[in-house]
Amino acid sequence: MNRFIVPVILLITSCGQAKPHEDGSAFAEVIKVNVVNIIKDEESVAYEDTKEIMSWAQVIFWRSVDIRIKLISYKEIAASEFSNIDDWHSPTADAQLKRFRLLRNYAAKSGCIEDGVKCYFLLPPLRSSSGNKQFGGVGDFYCSNSGFALGQAGRLSSHSPPRDRLMASAGIMVHEIGHTFNCEHLNVKDGHRVNIMDFAAGVFFDKFRETITFIVESIERIRECTGYMKRKSWMEQKRKRCRKAAGGRQKRCWRRYNKVKQGVLQKSSQGVVFPAFE
Ligand SMILES: [Zn+2]
Repeated sequence: MNRFIVPVILLITSCGQAKPHEDGSAFAEVIKVNVVNIIKDEESVAYEDTKEIMSWAQVIFWRSVDIRIKLISYKEIAASEFSNIDDWHSPTADAQLKRFRLLRNYAAKSGCIEDGVKCYFLLPPLRSSSGNKQFGGVGDFYCSNSGFALGQAGRLSSHSPPRDRLMASAGIMVHEIGHTFNCEHLNVKDGHRVNIMDFAAGVFFDKFRETITFIVESIERIRECTGYMKRKSWMEQKRKRCRKAAGGRQKRCWRRYNKVKQGVLQKSSQGVVFPAFE
């Protein structure tokens, strides 16, 4: 499969479409994320808490070599809009999925899901039938310029041992955003490191909160995905230019375009769309 990818990258570079990053690194993506906080009850996070979660999420991304995250907005929406969700605190998978679909539809309509921007919803803490607060989230699992994910947050904790829910919420935010870059669950625990894409990443926050990060395999998935998105965007630009070009120039333009298209289509077969559970 790499045979298709390498020539494509060279072609883009030789056309002057790919600019080197300002800091000189080979890979430095800026991931833009819209953050929406849902007010529901007294356990919901306040504006300051959301900012804290956002800055922790940035730290976790920065720790992972050269992935940058830019959390671009904070918006509160009245939970009364979703009063038909009577099982707000239910931890069941069905309720989680129902909530995910409803909020995803809302996010799409309200413009939170847009091209080049991921959308993330902060929900009040989940509560199990025994009354314990739980962590979790759901995210789109595919490679796209946009994408939707949500997770729970809250300042108070009834966990034993107690843990900082704000930081754990940041971990879940990063994990779910990771899914929207085509990252699968990869469970790696070797005593020194835990992958943020571990199936139970939230559970390991107590012990690994200072070191939890994307491991190389997960970073590679993000690189593949952002590379794919770049080529796709290059294709769109190129298609517009080829249409405008005239004569032999247009022929050459389409020839080059079709070569790139082959590579991109080959790659896009990896894009599987379904929600992933934390
Ligand atoms: Zn997950």
